[in-house]
Amino acid sequence: MRQWRDVKSRHRDALVFFRVGDFYEMFCDDAEEGARLLGLTLTTRNNGAAGRVPLAGVPAKALDEYLSRLVALGQRVAICEQMEDPSQAKGIVRREVVETVTPGTILSGGLLDAKRNNFIVAAAPSGGRAGGQVAKSAGKSAGAPVGVAAMDVSTGELVVLDSAEGALGEILERFEPRELLVPESWEGVSWEEVVPHRPPAVVTTRPDWLFGLEAARDELVRRYRVQSLDGFGFERGDDALVCAAGAVVAYVEEIRPGSSGHLRAPRVERPHTFMALDSMTRRNLELVEPLRGADGGKSLLSVLDATRTPMGSRLLRSWLLAPLMDREALQRRQLGVAELLDAPSVRAVLRDALGRVRDLDRLAVRIASEHAGPRELLALGESARQLPALAASGAELKSEVLTTLCGDMDTLAELESLVKRAISEDAPATLSEGGVICAGFDSELDDLRRARDGAREFIAGLQARERERTGIASLRVGFNKVFGYYLEVTKPNLARVPPRFARRQTLTNAERFVTPELKEWEEKVFGAEDRIAQLEQRLFRRVRAELAQAVPRIRETGRRAAALDVLAALAEVAESQGYARPQMTEEFAYDVTAGRHPVVETVMPHEDFIPNDLCLDEDGRVVILTGPNMAGKSTVLRQTGLIQIMAQLGSFVPAAKARLGICDRVFTRVGASDSLARGQSTFMVEMNETASIIHGATERSLVLLDEIGRGTSTYDGVSIAWAVTEHLHERVRAKTVFATHYHELTQLSDLLSCVKNLNVAVRESGDDIVFLRRLEKGGADRSYGIQVARLAGFPPELVARAAELLSELEGAPRRTAPTGAGAAAGAQLSLFGGEHPVLEQLRALDPDRMTPIEALNVLQSLRASAR
Ligand code: ADP
Ligand code: MG
Repeated sequence: MRQWRDVKSRHRDALVFFRVGDFYEMFCDDAEEGARLLGLTLTTRNNGAAGRVPLAGVPAKALDEYLSRLVALGQRVAICEQMEDPSQAKGIVRREVVETVTPGTILSGGLLDAKRNNFIVAAAPSGGRAGGQVAKSAGKSAGAPVGVAAMDVSTGELVVLDSAEGALGEILERFEPRELLVPESWEGVSWEEVVPHRPPAVVTTRPDWLFGLEAARDELVRRYRVQSLDGFGFERGDDALVCAAGAVVAYVEEIRPGSSGHLRAPRVERPHTFMALDSMTRRNLELVEPLRGADGGKSLLSVLDATRTPMGSRLLRSWLLAPLMDREALQRRQLGVAELLDAPSVRAVLRDALGRVRDLDRLAVRIASEHAGPRELLALGESARQLPALAASGAELKSEVLTTLCGDMDTLAELESLVKRAISEDAPATLSEGGVICAGFDSELDDLRRARDGAREFIAGLQARERERTGIASLRVGFNKVFGYYLEVTKPNLARVPPRFARRQTLTNAERFVTPELKEWEEKVFGAEDRIAQLEQRLFRRVRAELAQAVPRIRETGRRAAALDVLAALAEVAESQGYARPQMTEEFAYDVTAGRHPVVETVMPHEDFIPNDLCLDEDGRVVILTGPNMAGKSTVLRQTGLIQIMAQLGSFVPAAKARLGICDRVFTRVGASDSLARGQSTFMVEMNETASIIHGATERSLVLLDEIGRGTSTYDGVSIAWAVTEHLHERVRAKTVFATHYHELTQLSDLLSCVKNLNVAVRESGDDIVFLRRLEKGGADRSYGIQVARLAGFPPELVARAAELLSELEGAPRRTAPTGAGAAAGAQLSLFGGEHPVLEQLRALDPDRMTPIEALNVLQSLRASAR
């Protein structure tokens, strides 16, 4: 217990798994916590004078399973192993924590999702100072710029970037970190507010000095064994980036000593490299996951992900969450997709080979960190065997992106042959079972195996010889783990057993014996087996170490394979779904002919989805999209954003034709997403989100608004929607589609020069409506809510009553609209028909016949009546 307490004192923030024989035990508070989380039985251990302590344990064999459950719950686990063989140890076995497993730093294949990166993200305050000030703003709006470093320990990637104003939450959503590392002084920050939809599973704090510039620089220079950091692309003013990178490297080294040795160089990402996507846009457009949980819903990613390798799948996800802003770079991708689309046979060969390439990124790290077992080396060999086919098909390709990926691709040939020569094809998963190294790889091993097999054969031959010598025809040679080799004689024959047989074990029907001769040969077998096991281990480590030398090469090939995989997958989907290559323009155009919603179209028969054209140009930079409920407004709206994002990640798009420019952000506000859990009303959330669009959008942005202003009274709602549209039109000048069932808003097209009305057509037939799903010019004049209620199965008398009320309301004198609210020339037009009494008075005046005094008096009286 003293040993345990000592370990625990150094790992207070983790559950300590304390190895005792075949179990990992937890004690005291850890035991209670662990038993609760894992559903284990809590027992107690008599601890002498110290009384009884709670105890809970898990079998060592099942470690991975329990770890994955704890890690999924956001726990940290320190694994404390026995460092010496208990049979040789004097006194208490020495124990040490060999690694700490945290959600953000796992390496083990079983605990990782192959299709996602597993990021730990460190955030460091700018200027290398941590302090309450930063903490407060980070908590409030994730405001102050901070340095961010995102590391995937399982692949060795490290990306560093600066969070611009208010964007920490966005960056965190992009990397989806399993673990967040921040300075201690940020303790009070509410991460649920910064990243409401995806708060990190665990937030780890470390002392502020670890995030200091000096400490961070030293750490990076030491771990990457470089003289200075210049080679990584850090520039002046990047202090916060260096701090974040240093902190994350130091932390990972702390909990997994030695692991920073196989990191890749940090990649510094500059602002405006990627299209920024905020959380509501990512969620509302269902880019990587469906809005309503995972219950069979589809995301854009699930439609596009035809990749064949795990690293390809991860790469596609990261392309999708960070579309490009560089037109030339994305056109290079497009040309690659185009070429692969036009070369189906090359693509087939390529994808077939890729299908057998395993997770090279993670294999590289497992090999470098000495975690890889025999099967993983075989997986490397199998992958390398596919590379010549990849390289060869690449030789037939011409586009720049594909020739750079395939040209002089390192096919890792001698690694493949080393694995083939060394590792037996049917090697077991773990080294301890033996039979890992191939015959013929090492002559000493071959000799030992021959000796062992000879001795085994001799023992097997003993059965026949002893039968003859003793005359016991049923005598048999057997083996078990406890007693080793034995000669078994059944009860009726016991009388014939000679004295040189020594009894070892009595069973119900038989007895087991050994002879000096048997013992002698048994020793030969055991001795050889021990030496074989040791030698196999040594040889395996040597092979693995040799492969580890080639880790940078494995990675480079892995990187190329991943990119090829994504481009081929995009070509595959473009073909199967009938996508077209968008033409990318210098200016910000949006002109799509026969566009479709890439996800909705896959859940209905092909011909049932109705394509629509949409052009957002100077005549109609802002589109007011009306139509009854269920007409298809939200679908058109979302497909507009999805097409833009697909184009910017380099994909083809679901349309007959598209002319698009580079857009800096897509903003989406769709539906009334409830956030009562956060203690805000739906309407408040809606207004917050709309405010962030108004502040963040530029002339190069695409703003998609769906039914904003709905969560309050109709007049409130229409007024807000009206004012927001005016603002977007005049001040922001962003390309905007505003879907609304407030048909009153269609009046805006008469008032504002770049607003046009479109509606999703329906045909009335009698009292019913038929949805045509077709976009038409002009606004809808009615909401058709009652018809939709009928379609939903409202009882006829209820529908009739609603219709009656509607005609009453429509017939009633209307309230006049707010005027002058920035509507410039058109301010006198009312929203809902009807006229303001002041207008009547004005019309009655004849200024030509009035004196200045009279005019002033009229003005006075109008002013008085307005009070
Ligand atoms: P609204 O926002 O106008 O209420 P939605 O966009 O939610 O309507 O569309 C309602 C349903 O209509 C969708 O779930 C989809 O099944 C169908 N739909 C929408 N657009 C199309 C289309 N272009 N072609 C075929 N079906 C469509
Ligand atoms: Mg809708």
